[in-house]
Amino acid sequence: MTSLDDLPIRDDLRGLTPYGAPQLEVPVRLNVNENAYRVPEEVALDIVQEVARALPDANRYPDREFDELRRSFAHYLGHDVTPEQIWAGNGSNEVLQHVLQAFGGPGRTLLSFTPTYSMYPLLAQGVGMRWVPVPRDEGFTVGPDTVRAAIAEHDPDVVFLCSPNNPTGTAIDLETIEAAADAARGIVLVDEAYAEFARDREQTALTLLDRHPRLLVSRTMSKAFAFAGMRVGYLAAHPAVIDALRLVRLPYHLSAITQAAAVAALRHSDVMLSRVDDLRAQRDRMVEELSRLGYRPYPSDANFVLVAGVDDPQATFRALLDRGILVRDVGLPGTLRITAGTRAETSALLAAMAELRPE
Ligand SMILES: *Cc1c(COP(=O)(O)O)cnc(C)c1O
Repeated sequence: MTSLDDLPIRDDLRGLTPYGAPQLEVPVRLNVNENAYRVPEEVALDIVQEVARALPDANRYPDREFDELRRSFAHYLGHDVTPEQIWAGNGSNEVLQHVLQAFGGPGRTLLSFTPTYSMYPLLAQGVGMRWVPVPRDEGFTVGPDTVRAAIAEHDPDVVFLCSPNNPTGTAIDLETIEAAADAARGIVLVDEAYAEFARDREQTALTLLDRHPRLLVSRTMSKAFAFAGMRVGYLAAHPAVIDALRLVRLPYHLSAITQAAAVAALRHSDVMLSRVDDLRAQRDRMVEELSRLGYRPYPSDANFVLVAGVDDPQATFRALLDRGILVRDVGLPGTLRITAGTRAETSALLAAMAELRPE
């Protein structure tokens, strides 16, 4: 019998646990910030046709430079972003990994402001670099002074700023992002996985790219675009940064099917994004009603809400699961993170939370 412990695994991976949000088949799944709505039928049909067109050429490797997809992303992003400024991968997690492979690695450090996305330390670990967590300010915000002080103290090679932040929902203002870009000698990446859900959508770090060649803005089709199952993420940055990422990607990393599907989906970005406003409304409804019930939800610019005032998160997690509702215990004391669902799903969640509320 062989177990993991018997294998000649890298010393720095010994004893670690992999990323593992539970995947359970329950009626109401509000645990991993997926889009609650399915891909609209007419879009799905167009995607299938585009994939069918690509398939006979699958004897050849796909376009290594994914030119058409880069044009599609540049067009979708606006803000004068050009195709030469676009990179893409199988989910933005792969894009973040490329960034760390190119700009991080052994002997280097990644700094981020915690609590934040749980994959950052794992991605750093994977490329053998050190992760430096710096606590956020009061209320999980991050201001320019905190950012400048942390960068001065730790002199990181890479900074990841998650805005809106997972798991707190907090957006970082552009003044703070510029402060980071000005203070850091290395790379500053703004993870905008939830940008489309922000209350002020004009507040994107894309507007700063012209002035900051070491600033990177990553996005994903997994959340607002209802495309988590297809695995497509991307980033915008200076063309020289894109050249650096070419050095570390595996050849032909984006399959012909992925490219075809994403190009077709982006043609329908208006329909794909049409439910974002509904989800924002359900998010705001959760904040409002959970406050009335005596919980303490944090303000959110994402498609989820971090809810404080939960006396026993594990007990509440289990009680919700008994009612067919899956949420996330992110390990922050007294809190649960809950994704905005459809109106009906949100109603079910709120009814259950009313039953379970603290006295
Ligand atoms: C969900 C999420 C991503 C996206 O991951 P994909 O690999 O694109 O599915 C990236 N960053 C954050 C903070 C997220 O919450």
